[in-house]
Amino acid sequence: RVDQDVEYGRLLRDVMATALAGEARGRPADYIPALAAADPSAFGMALATVDGAVFGVGEWEVPFSIQSVSKLFSLALALAEGGDGLWGGVGREPSGNPFNSLVQLESEQGIPRNPFINAGALVVTDRLLELTGDAAGAVRDFLRAESGNPAVGTDDAVAASEARHGHRNAALAHFMASFGNLRNPVGSVLAHYYAHCAIAASCRDLALAGLFLARHGVRADGSRLLSRSEAKRINAVMLTCGTYDAAGDFAYRVGLPGKSGVGGGVLAVLPGRGSVCVWGPGLDAAGNSVLGVAALDALTTATGWSVF
Ligand code: GLU
Repeated sequence: RVDQDVEYGRLLRDVMATALAGEARGRPADYIPALAAADPSAFGMALATVDGAVFGVGEWEVPFSIQSVSKLFSLALALAEGGDGLWGGVGREPSGNPFNSLVQLESEQGIPRNPFINAGALVVTDRLLELTGDAAGAVRDFLRAESGNPAVGTDDAVAASEARHGHRNAALAHFMASFGNLRNPVGSVLAHYYAHCAIAASCRDLALAGLFLARHGVRADGSRLLSRSEAKRINAVMLTCGTYDAAGDFAYRVGLPGKSGVGGGVLAVLPGRGSVCVWGPGLDAAGNSVLGVAALDALTTATGWSVF
């Protein structure tokens, strides 16, 4: 135990040093004004093991806007609550288009390519809202329970900023509604979507919350959220669609299922072993954290942890 703690601590410090040694920092997302002020040199990383131990380095306990990392949890909860019927309204192929693209929706009859582009996540939020009556609350409560941190919650200023500048998400939602692919009023779906994207949580919180995927569907309290095969499938969708239209490059460099968000967080799963979350607000052109991907690259290169 002591040896393992020393080993993980040293590993994370080495990984952080490698990531910060590169010069590129990227730029924080500015299309959501409340995110633009983030410091592109901020960095945190946490690694949680399947037995629940958690290790961290840098600003690993500082909450940040989880943004699209939330789409992983809304997907897991919608599948847990509603089962495979979800796939009637959203596909599971990489899109090859930017996360907020409208173009494929028309030719594909309002069925988004996958649950991690914005259109797909809006469908997932819609179904979770139908199933629970409170989609954002369900995501928040899940994160609180898995992390053991009751302070995890929506940053209302970020949610309001998203809503004020959310013309494109509103357009996606209305367009899908015109095809009959939303079951709740567009306004409610958008509000719940913004509220779960605007949840603030730390690397520590998210690494712990991602462990159910490393445990093949089993939650922190030992109960089962997903079947083994559902957990495998979510990991597969993360691998192919979780990091915008750079999922190929992420698989090449990191070799793990991962989900990123424009707040600069990336959550990656080491099936059977653990989960790791890294945060650096500077993004590359595809919208992935520059320091986050560099750190995960360094981690898997140093350890050989990979699904391949
Ligand atoms: N709430 C953000 C949006 O809809 C999420 C984007 C992201 O993290 O990919 O634009």
